[in-house]
Amino acid sequence: MNRIGALPKDIKQKNDMEILRSLADLESFTVQDIANRTKISRLTITRALERFMEKGIVVQSGKGNSTSLGGKKPQEYILNPNRYAISIAPSKGKTQCTLMSFDGNEIDMKEFPFPSNMAYPQFIKNAAACIRDLLKDNKIKEEEFYGIVLCSGGIIDPKEGVFTVSSIPEWGNDLHAAEDLRKELGKDYHIESENVSKVCSGMLRFNNDVLGKRVAVMYADYGISITLLEDGKTPDTVNNVNGELGHMCLDPNDEEICVCGSKGCFEVLISQKRIRKMIDALPAKERDLLLKDYDGKEDVRIYLLKKQGEGNAQADRLCEYMSRYIGLAFRNVILAFDPELFVIQGVFSYASKQFFDQVRSVIRENKYLANIDIDIRKESRELSQMLKKGSMNIALCSILEE
Ligand SMILES: [Zn+2]
Repeated sequence: MNRIGALPKDIKQKNDMEILRSLADLESFTVQDIANRTKISRLTITRALERFMEKGIVVQSGKGNSTSLGGKKPQEYILNPNRYAISIAPSKGKTQCTLMSFDGNEIDMKEFPFPSNMAYPQFIKNAAACIRDLLKDNKIKEEEFYGIVLCSGGIIDPKEGVFTVSSIPEWGNDLHAAEDLRKELGKDYHIESENVSKVCSGMLRFNNDVLGKRVAVMYADYGISITLLEDGKTPDTVNNVNGELGHMCLDPNDEEICVCGSKGCFEVLISQKRIRKMIDALPAKERDLLLKDYDGKEDVRIYLLKKQGEGNAQADRLCEYMSRYIGLAFRNVILAFDPELFVIQGVFSYASKQFFDQVRSVIRENKYLANIDIDIRKESRELSQMLKKGSMNIALCSILEE
């Protein structure tokens, strides 16, 4: 039984999340600022802020401006600039370890090369060394440090901190990464492990566009993930495979074997490798014309997406090929999950309106979906930025849930 006037735990948690969301983009805030942005009572907000202070999420700053009526100045709060978390995330062949403060500032970053032939124990050793150096160099006290968010590819069990199926085949499966990292550090830090694409979608956790909605987030880079969010969060599921829709089969007759062991996976059909192969198969003259402005470094799909609609027939044809598969994938997502909104991160955030209109028309070939609105939005921040923001959001949420 609850004390009289006390809120049940789940309502309290829901309010806490809404309050955290409403203040996440503010430099400083008062109880009234939050009350203006939410429908939560001032008393509930005041109590929540007290809890946030106990947990070290927010601190009091100076007093605000006096009101026009000359009343007492309200107390101002800020996200705690003296509490820290470290995000460990892959980025372009490297692993980046970033020390961040709760108010969203990047304090320091160290990285180590992450070639695909690095053994798992060495990865843990390198990560631990970076963490120790970051804490030491920046004179972070034990009580100021909250913990670590460890992002990796593959299937990850966030509760146990286990890489169930590693994205690096040589590493094997069922790696107890959180435990191994704690052992290596000799400290009992809070360590959260999460899949890269879920951390990317985690950056949307406090985004008002996704509040209360069902959202599908597609992230494309080497692989493709589509993560399904409810109210900004990835629901806990039995097998932790939410996000792995890059492995939906869209062509059972395709010959290439995917990293997952199957054939015809969505991410294989429009991978950079596949598109390069299609370009290489063109007659030399057309290929040269198509690639005449290509620097050889950019993801060739981004190059094509930027060229769509500019008069090169092959660029248009290859973009249409990619939009067809994305349309088929999204159609499946709609039939299974019926999201209100698609968010596009990574490679295809470079695509034009024309590209997504093609995606829409592929979806609408299905008569059940012929007249639906399909809200597609692009989020074009760089991967490393998304991972840092996502990691911080995940850390803040897990403090609330403790
Ligand atoms: Zn696959």
